[in-house]
Parts: sequence; structure tokens; C-alpha cells
Amino acid sequence: MIQCSPYTKKGKGEVNIIPKPKEVVINDGLFLVNKETKILADNSDKEVKSVAEYLAGILRPSTGFDLIIENGKDAPNRIKLIIDPEIKGNEGVYRLVANKKGVTISAPDATGLFYGVQSLRQLLPVEIEMKDVQDNIEWSVPFVVINDEPEFKYRGLHLDVGRHFFPVSFIKKYIDLLALHKMNVFHWHLTEDQGWRIEIKKYPKLTEIGSVRKETLVGHYGSDKYDGKPYGGFYTQDEVREIVAYAKDRFITVIPEIELPGHSLAALASYPELGCTGGPYEVATTWGVFPDVYCAGNDQVFTFLEDVLTEVMDLFPSEYIHIGGDECPKTRWKHCPKCQARIKNEHLKNEHELQSYFIQRIEKFLNAHGRQIIGWDEILEGGLAPKATVMSWRGEKGGIEAAQQHHDVIMTPGFALYFDHYQADPATQPLAIGGFTNTKMVYNYNPIPKKLKGDLEKYVLGAQGNVWTEYMQTPEYVEYMVYPRACALSEVDWTPQGSKNWDDFVKRMEVHKKRLKALNVNYYDGPMDALKPKKKKKK
Ligand SMILES: [Zn+2]
Repeated sequence: MIQCSPYTKKGKGEVNIIPKPKEVVINDGLFLVNKETKILADNSDKEVKSVAEYLAGILRPSTGFDLIIENGKDAPNRIKLIIDPEIKGNEGVYRLVANKKGVTISAPDATGLFYGVQSLRQLLPVEIEMKDVQDNIEWSVPFVVINDEPEFKYRGLHLDVGRHFFPVSFIKKYIDLLALHKMNVFHWHLTEDQGWRIEIKKYPKLTEIGSVRKETLVGHYGSDKYDGKPYGGFYTQDEVREIVAYAKDRFITVIPEIELPGHSLAALASYPELGCTGGPYEVATTWGVFPDVYCAGNDQVFTFLEDVLTEVMDLFPSEYIHIGGDECPKTRWKHCPKCQARIKNEHLKNEHELQSYFIQRIEKFLNAHGRQIIGWDEILEGGLAPKATVMSWRGEKGGIEAAQQHHDVIMTPGFALYFDHYQADPATQPLAIGGFTNTKMVYNYNPIPKKLKGDLEKYVLGAQGNVWTEYMQTPEYVEYMVYPRACALSEVDWTPQGSKNWDDFVKRMEVHKKRLKALNVNYYDGPMDALKPKKKKKK
């Protein structure tokens, strides 16, 4: 049995919470939840009430108990949620005590109470996650004292719905699983060369034309086989609102990504006048990077993007709007009279500075509306927009550079946090884009690079896993690629680097996988430290 400090084990009970809490003391004894158990919470506080209802909703299907929520006097046999401003720590801090009186979760705010509820859920038998009533289960909670808080304030997971589209029901399940793992950001990649997935009222062709491609590449990039079947889908604004509200109830911010100036072929197919050549363009049917991008010399492009972003801001309360900024070839700009005129009139040195002009103009617009931009690390090229947060994906170099320039950074390096990579020998796995990142490589990742010490560490807000879906056609496929790697990621973001321990994680995952199974998650069940096959030596 592996017990890592700061775990203190005085009783027989077991605690297998993921992400691992900061401090746990296990005492002897069990509290049993039964149909008489009450949830005590301050009903007059809307957020606290919502957490109490969420807890009752988690417990209801499998136990069959419809627990009463009341703001009554303390009594035995209760689960009590209380706001306690005396508890200090990072946002999300909470304290959970289980003893013979019941369970008490206290936190300075509803966010902490919600995370306490996630821990309580994981203290209960895994059958608690089942959708139908389970007979003959003792709903026991080991006596514990847990003091917990997150290490990083940004704990994200991304999903690309451009390459493949996923239904609202799946997006909600995705968000539910983020909540289980105490993650707080869902980065929703909504526009791509292969499909525009969000309804924009002012530009209906974005979804009429831009959300559908005429066919899709079969097999690996470079193949010349297509399936000949039209593929499409998009989210209506009502659906977007529903998802944003659903996430908010789970203390998760949805950050939308509207890609610019590159990865914009679906938009250009809908409105060809926005490209340098005027088209015609077609929604992409294969993967990769395409030369046609928004024309940086045409003011109509900025009017269009500002209109789109205005509707986006109306749908998403998030402070951050992700504007992409990656993989934007400069070929068209080099030969476009309008783009060249812009370079001349704005006294720019080259096309890299033109990209920087583009991003800064969009940043200025979003800042004027109280929002901040996040961009992929290419936004460093040609000069960083003044307040931009950088998402470092091509390794850590971009993140380090941005932090050195005193910009906030989110770490998403491909080598550790790209969940579209293979997680075991490709010969044994469904088709993936390539690369190799097993769960252990995710687990061992430290968001603070060695080169950033002292004062610069604070610019790293946290880490995020990226889920590009070129090769993931179905929800089951996505889950297979994401879990258990996202479990490891949750610990990268939540647990202090010094308390992480691979063997202990593996042990807790044995139980946690049963929980994922009860939640009907199609996780990868092979070795989490599978080795990359060695390349055969050339003769
Ligand atoms: Zn142009």
C-alpha cells in the first residue's frame, strides 16, 4: 500500500480522490448516507443552493434517496455546506470533514463548496455514479479531514468541434467530467477550415455554407481517398447559451475560440470577398494548413470579425476570447495589393508584422469591450499584442518568451498535453494523428518550465490538454483519447508538483477507472506508461 505524505492514515478507510487533495487525514469510522440524511445549506444564497441541488442530483439516481435540502438547525445525519470566510487559500479552497455527525464542507465561496462536493462524491462507493437505483450498497463515507486547494488557477481542457462535430449532449457530458476532476475551463474550438460551428445571426451563410464540407479524407493525411459524404453540423445560439449556463452551474468558464487570420477557409467559402483573391473557396475536406486566410488589407474583414465577435461576446461571459493566431501562411498577403498597401500605410516591416497588426487591431476591439485575448504562440511573431495571454503549444519556448515579456501564459505543449497523440504502440491503437504521449508523460509534466524561476513563475496561469479531432469521428473516440490522460492533467493543475507521485496515482486510478466506467466513459484501459515502439534501424 502506497500512502504519500501529506496523507495521514489513522483508520482503515481508503481515499482515492483525483486530483489528489493537498492534505488528507483518514480516521477510523464510516458515515452512512441514508434516506433520512439531510443536506443543510443556506437556501437564500443562490449559488450555495445550486451546489446543494447539484449534490442532491448526484446522489439521487443511484441511491434512490430524494434528500431534503434545508436551512435548518444542525442535527446528526447531515451533509452540511457552509460558507466560512475564515478559510483562506487559492480560489477553490475548501475543507471537508466526515465524522459520526455527518459531512461538513466549508469554503469561503460556492466554488470551494462545489469542489468539496466533488471530493465527497469520490469518497462514496463508485456505484454512486450509476444512473439506476443500486440495491445492497452501503453508501459509506470514511471519516476524514481534507484541506484542499488548487495549485493553478487555470485548469483547462480543449475540444475541436471544427474537424468533427459533437452533439450538445456530449458537450454536457464532457463538461460534467471536467467538473468531476475540478477543472474550470472548457476551451471550445468553434471555427476551422473544415467547418464553422457557431450560428452568427448577422452572417447566416457561415452556417448555411461554412458548416458543411462536401466530403472527408479517409485514413491518414496524405491519402487520396475521400468518403464522398457531405459532413456538417453547428450549434445554434440557443444551444450555445444552454451549454454556457450548464458549465457555469459547474463553475466552469467556456472560452470560445474564433480562429483568425488563418484556419478560416470555412468562413471564406461562405463570404469569398473576405479573402485576398476573392475565391471561389471551398470548405476544406482534408487536414493541414491552407494558404487562403482573411485579407489583412481589407477593412471589410475587420467589420465582419467585429460583428462576429460582438455576437460571440453576447453569448460568452468569459473574460477571455481565444482568437487563434496560429498557422497563418503569408503567401496570399505577399501577393495581395490590399495587404501590401496596408504594410506600407501602417509602416510595417513585413507580413509577420502585418499578422501582429491584425491581432492587435482585434485585441483593441475586444479590450474596448472589457475582454482579453488568448492566442496560440505564433502571436509572438512580429510583436505581441499588449495584453495578450499566450497559449504555448509548440513546446514551452513561446510560453517562456511570453512570461519573460510579462505576459500571462497557459501551457499546452504538444509533447505532454496533446491528447490527439498515440498513448500506446500505434499498432495496437485506433488511427491517430501521430506523436506519442502516454498518461505518465502527461502526469509528470510541470507547467512551470525550469527556465522560469522566481518572479516569472506567476505568469504561468496553468495547463490545458488539447483535443484536435481530425481522427476522432465519434464521442466514444474522443473519450478514448482523453481518458485517463485528462485525469493525469487534473493532477498537473491541481496538485502541488512536490506531492505528485506516479505509483500513488496508478493505485488511485484503479478505483477511479471503475468510477469512469460507471459514468459510461469509454476510456483507454491499457498500460498508462506504455512505451513508444523503437524505430527499426535502417539497413
Ligand atoms: Zn489581402
